[in-house]
Amino acid sequence: MTPGQPPDPASHRHADSVGNGAALEILAANARTLGMVLDNMSDLVAMLDTEGRRLYNSPSYRAVFGDRDLAGTDSFLEIHPEDRERVRRVFRETVASGVGQRTQYRFLLADGSIRYIESQGDVIKDAGGKVTHVVVVARDITERKLFERTLEESNKQLVATVQLLEQRHRQNLILGKLGDLMQMCKSVEESRGVVAQYADELFPGTSGNLYLRNFANELFETAASWGEAALAGDPVIGKDDCWALRRGQMHVIEDARSKLVCQHLMVPPAGPCLCAPILGNGELLGLLHVQLGAEEAHLPGPVRLRRLESQQVWALTVAEQIALALVNLRLRESLSAQAVRDSLTGLYNRRYLEQVLEREVLRAARNGRPVGVIMLDLDHFKNFNDSHGHEAGDMLLRVLGDYLVTHVRAEDIACRYGGEEFVVILPEASPAMSRSRAEELWKGVQGLHINFHGELLRGVTASVGVAAFPGHGRTAGELLGAADAAMYAAKRRGRDCVEIAEQSKS
Ligand code: GH3
Ligand code: MG
Ligand code: MG
Repeated sequence: MTPGQPPDPASHRHADSVGNGAALEILAANARTLGMVLDNMSDLVAMLDTEGRRLYNSPSYRAVFGDRDLAGTDSFLEIHPEDRERVRRVFRETVASGVGQRTQYRFLLADGSIRYIESQGDVIKDAGGKVTHVVVVARDITERKLFERTLEESNKQLVATVQLLEQRHRQNLILGKLGDLMQMCKSVEESRGVVAQYADELFPGTSGNLYLRNFANELFETAASWGEAALAGDPVIGKDDCWALRRGQMHVIEDARSKLVCQHLMVPPAGPCLCAPILGNGELLGLLHVQLGAEEAHLPGPVRLRRLESQQVWALTVAEQIALALVNLRLRESLSAQAVRDSLTGLYNRRYLEQVLEREVLRAARNGRPVGVIMLDLDHFKNFNDSHGHEAGDMLLRVLGDYLVTHVRAEDIACRYGGEEFVVILPEASPAMSRSRAEELWKGVQGLHINFHGELLRGVTASVGVAAFPGHGRTAGELLGAADAAMYAAKRRGRDCVEIAEQSKS
């Protein structure tokens, strides 16, 4: 049977039994009408024998299988292997029960393309009620399926976006809290603890490190790390170890094949990662390193890129917030440093000295330990100023300041007490030790000189007074008074010498 000819498995039976012209004519007209319908319908109509072999296929089959002659072929062959057994079962049930079923399956065509099909079966029986043929009316629903797929996909994306937005909202709240807490810290050092507490909540599902710059050694040290430690990278890094630090801008590594992988990564990145510099007033203050999970690498390209972009934007936001807090903290630190430092020499000022001495005296009293105080006043400094000018005098004071800072122990505190008067506090130093330290400093001053506009100025001397807790005074005020009195005694003795305070009477 060829397309255009309607199927008529029982035509001989009808012709025999009717046997008159009018009836034959009606039958012929019906057959022509049926043929026309089949020729012009887009649905696929097939008649199969009870084994599933094709006896008839409507012309619409050409749209699926081309001009191939399908007669006698196995109708299950083109069905997708994953669907084939199920459809065969449906077919067998239909033949056995005589009741057609609606089912869906896929055709896998020779060119590898897939068509989605929905079909409804029906049976033709012989006079004895035995099923002889199965008629299948099917419809190509590929477009509908693809549309459903697209719809499903965009729905999934929508859900993912909503989840991402919710997560961002939570992260924003945490970031706000982190900013507030950092503002409340008294120093950058203290803020490290706060950052460490919140960092992992800011970047859920990732590994990473937050580095803060140590201005003393110019290294970037871990203030917080989260996720897998190995992925987070080296805990202490130099500026040259990271492309973001070198260039002062975000550096993104999409995968391990990337040419510019930073040295601070201890293992090659399994997934995408990024480094965001923390910049305040154009100065590098730290680095944020975030490594996304290895599973990100297996996501479809556009999804992966979108997620990476979103992480980049977030990392920038976090870096900016942290930078802002750090800039404020550093400003506060430098302001409070200014409040305790003398601007000419950089030594501690008198106010700070008095506070510290009080603290040291209390501590010494509690521990039963001594504290030494050395007061040093330049001799005839007025003359020095008068002879060489105020500028030269300032230079000498700075040189003396540098000398004191570099010649006292780490635990000693050197201060500029007033004009050309300096005080050194020596925690835990006995009177004898304080005296010998005073003599060293006094001798050192004799060697000081300045090169003022090409002229070497020297011959500087100082008068030095020494007092120690508890023998020369039991309070900061008494100690300073005793050291001052000893210094004046040295002046009276002819200057350029060291005097020890008198034993206090109390
Ligand atoms: P003595 O040996 O008795 O200490 O004599 P002196 O000249 O050092 O002491 P005096 O107290 O008479 O003078 C102190 C001088 O120190 C007066 C002042 O001009 C000078 N001086 C104080 N502060 C500064 C400063 O910051 N820079 C300069 N260049 N000179 C200062
Ligand atoms: Mg003086
Ligand atoms: Mg003086």
